[in-house]
Amino acid sequence: MDVLHSTRTVVKNALDKLGYPDEVFELMKDPIRMMTVRIPVRMDDGSIKIFTGYRGQHNDAVGPTKGGVRFHPNVTEKEVKALSIWMSLKAGIVDLPYGGGKGGIICDPREMSFRELEGLSRGYVRAISQIVGPNKDIPAPDVFTNSQIMAWMMDEYSRIDEFNNPGFITGKPIVLGGSHGRESATAKGVTICINEAAKKKGIDVKGARIVVQGFGNAGSFLAKFLHDAGAKVVGISDAYGALHDPDGLDIDYLLDRRDSFGTVTNLFNETISNEELLELDCDILVPAAVENQITEQNADNIKATIVVEAANGPTTLGATKMLSDRGVLLVPDVLASSGGVTVSYFEWVQNNQGYYWTAEEIDEKLHENLIKAFNNIYDTAETRRVDMRLAAYMVGVRKMAEAARFRGWV
Ligand code: GLU
Repeated sequence: MDVLHSTRTVVKNALDKLGYPDEVFELMKDPIRMMTVRIPVRMDDGSIKIFTGYRGQHNDAVGPTKGGVRFHPNVTEKEVKALSIWMSLKAGIVDLPYGGGKGGIICDPREMSFRELEGLSRGYVRAISQIVGPNKDIPAPDVFTNSQIMAWMMDEYSRIDEFNNPGFITGKPIVLGGSHGRESATAKGVTICINEAAKKKGIDVKGARIVVQGFGNAGSFLAKFLHDAGAKVVGISDAYGALHDPDGLDIDYLLDRRDSFGTVTNLFNETISNEELLELDCDILVPAAVENQITEQNADNIKATIVVEAANGPTTLGATKMLSDRGVLLVPDVLASSGGVTVSYFEWVQNNQGYYWTAEEIDEKLHENLIKAFNNIYDTAETRRVDMRLAAYMVGVRKMAEAARFRGWV
């Protein structure tokens, strides 16, 4: 089952549980708008390469659509669609005035120069400029995109629009209207969910053994936060392999040595595979890399009692059931990774009002939103006797479904 199919399955279950008629699902099973663009870029060797990109806008009943842009060789139209649905759910879960959107470009930024990346980022914005904007659809960073790329995109949009337009995109550098705490926001949100989940399971995060898969934006900040909180990070990984130390890894050293794409394991002789990493003896497992990592094949070998999905879609539906049946507390992606879009919302609000908050204010607001969201979903799971993923989808779709009904769409 691909990610789009499994997302639709859970959206359908959630709408059925909430008692919505079929036409609500018909509206929500696909983005309301999906654009495919072709972007010519002059490469450093003088040749022109044509890249394919997408922007999907899932549903704008609640407000403008919002979500990141991913630069990755494996991007597909289906994946962008699923990711846009997940963004709608995240916005519903943390109660933001947005619908979901998502973008992606098929490319490998690890093999591109700074100048080529700038050309690609600007070309993408020119191609989608008609359908995006601070009150239409607001992009942000995602896998392999960062504040520099957001800055180029914001600059290109401002040129097209002939206005300085910081609210067009979030995840910008602070000097261009970015928010304090945005870069580490996804990891901070995951940390808050880990703390709440640990309380429910009676586990003390201080001294807990934690495995983090992925050392990108989410995984690296997360390993640092957990290490600083006194947890033992016993395993980490990147796309090429994994490191394991039952006594806890030296996270500060690894952070110092990682490159900007999160690669660090290539510096070590003794590595294990990503598959072995997931099955390590630990209390808490955090998949913070890519989709389909925990499947029916390895779900029964997972030793953690809590799994917190920092990545989008790391666990298949079959594996979700297997883990839940064994009493593993699984905090789903649409909740666990919603810290990023929450602080993106704070960034957009600050851009709109032209008045900026301190790092402490951001941190406090993020905690308040996520603790509320976690407990809302945990309580829904308990009272409706459903797993945390279905509970999260129920909370996530409700506001969007209500808004669509009030508008008279369904
Ligand atoms: N790409 C991030 C996500 O998947 C953040 C999106 C945003 O900040 O709008 O949640």
